[in-house]
Amino acid sequence: MDKIGVQGGAFIGLDIGGQSIKGFRLEPDGAVSCRATRPTPASAGAGEVLGTVAWVLGELGKDVAAVGVGTPGAVDAAGRIAGEAVNIPGWMGTELRVAVEEFSGAPTFVRNDGNLAAYAEWAARGGEARALLFIGLGTGIGGGYVEDGRILSGIDDRALEIGHVVVHHGGRACVCGRSGCVEAYASGPSMARIACELASEPGVAWEESSLARELREPGASTDARALYLAYARGDRLAHKVHSCAVEALARVVAAALAFLAPDRVVFGGGVLRGAGFLVEDVAALVPNYVYEAEYRDCRFEKALLGPEAGLLGAALYGARAVISREELLRLSVSATTGLKFEGC
Ligand SMILES: [Zn+2]
Repeated sequence: MDKIGVQGGAFIGLDIGGQSIKGFRLEPDGAVSCRATRPTPASAGAGEVLGTVAWVLGELGKDVAAVGVGTPGAVDAAGRIAGEAVNIPGWMGTELRVAVEEFSGAPTFVRNDGNLAAYAEWAARGGEARALLFIGLGTGIGGGYVEDGRILSGIDDRALEIGHVVVHHGGRACVCGRSGCVEAYASGPSMARIACELASEPGVAWEESSLARELREPGASTDARALYLAYARGDRLAHKVHSCAVEALARVVAAALAFLAPDRVVFGGGVLRGAGFLVEDVAALVPNYVYEAEYRDCRFEKALLGPEAGLLGAALYGARAVISREELLRLSVSATTGLKFEGC
């Protein structure tokens, strides 16, 4: 492969989550040459978390052209944490961009992690997608929207945080304290909870469901992966849980189509593992909720990238500040298709 004409080193992507702080080093030829990860010392406060960020950066080597950082929740235009993080006390107000720039000595860009995953999916398509809506289904539901390489940010990068849009008035209780949010139906933990509740509902036999039988055992639990294994066996309970998730997603996606008119809707996140058909199932229900012109020219797709979409999006978003659009798209496509993980 031709060397991309970039001077001045590699691009670092960082992903700061409540559980772990991850980083990787993307070389100008699209290879990932180094990765580092450490648990987030969340309860120790913002100072300790920043210390861990510095450690991860140190592991990723010198000669860095730019750094991109993804973090959950709100981030203002100066790269400062603009909202409370329930799992990192004192995180709000942290000058994350300034700190990372100091540690790395390279220009640094901080964005919401869902927006960066959307950016990675846009870039991975090499310019073929013009306006891309990304929806990530994991322990929560997030998203992002990228049009022509520009992330739609709204106030403090909060655009497309769609998990807590209410899709069923008076519906299931949600972790946010309200009820009926899409996240209460289609996140991994919610789907597992729905399965457990349905299994033990009085008066419903679920006779042919081995999943229901398992979940009626004392202390039994499940997760999205196990649910979709049961789905593949034709389990009725798993099919019911899936259709609840698909219905909730179709409603919120239909609204997003009307607002944004994307040409791609991309679903990613851990829930989709073994459940790629969810994408077509949502697409099939969308016409129930929105005018035909809003979905006619839109393609519904699975994510091209796995769990490292956010990291790649962060690295590419940093890169975009120092290389041309053509170079960025070539870098993105080669990082996506020829991802080589090499030792440090
Ligand atoms: Zn909610």
